[in-house]
Amino acid sequence: MRRPFIAANWKMNKTISETQEFISGFVLTVKDITDVDIAIAPPFTYLTVAAEKLKDTNVMLAAQDVFYAEKGAYTGEISPIMLINIGCKYVIIGHSERRQYFNETDDIVNKKIKAAKKAGLGTIFCIGESLEDRESKKTFDVLQKEIEEGLNGVDSEGIVIAYEPIWAIGTGKTATSEQAQEAHAYIRERFRTLYGNKADEIRIIYGGSVTPENIDSLMAGKDVDGALVGGASLKVESFVKIINFKKGS
Ligand code: PEP
Repeated sequence: MRRPFIAANWKMNKTISETQEFISGFVLTVKDITDVDIAIAPPFTYLTVAAEKLKDTNVMLAAQDVFYAEKGAYTGEISPIMLINIGCKYVIIGHSERRQYFNETDDIVNKKIKAAKKAGLGTIFCIGESLEDRESKKTFDVLQKEIEEGLNGVDSEGIVIAYEPIWAIGTGKTATSEQAQEAHAYIRERFRTLYGNKADEIRIIYGGSVTPENIDSLMAGKDVDGALVGGASLKVESFVKIINFKKGS
């Protein structure tokens, strides 16, 4: 049985005081939730204050990105060890915004996943097709390539996959529950080829305009194990409603 995983990706939003205010209220509201893994990925500059507020709670700290070198002359970058030092348990890798705006290739993503795992971080590895890919029926080809190249030489330990169709991210257009389930089932089959029966233990979460209104139907898919939430994670109320999804409705 896979434990649901719901993570907030705040992207480049909030101030320090907004971060403190959010987390203070949020941790109290979710403190009794024991059957869902919850993570918040604030911007790098708020990781310290978020770590303090999340200490001894049931909410894990995550980062939105990481660099693959351990240390050295890489101006502006953050290493996996630095994230571990500050208390991060997970890191998002390969988000489509990183691929699109910062030219991250599958090879870079693969190096980042390897480095993060080596340091002991769980990874939220993002994959997903563009609208053009979907319309030209290349969704599965894209997913296959991103999985094979991103996970080349990587075991399944600590990997959470986020299926995030690019056309659904921040657009208000969510994949239907059927589209999400179809992609997740495909991804699990690819994992079966790579990892055998371990494929059944890997969590595959959905991302792309998840809201309190659509989470229940998305989570009804048998291979949908949680959500990576952008816009709707910026308010305590909507993020808590998402975490309190009802499975099977
Ligand atoms: C994301 O940032 O990964 C995301 C899915 O964003 P949104 O929920 O805003 O579409």
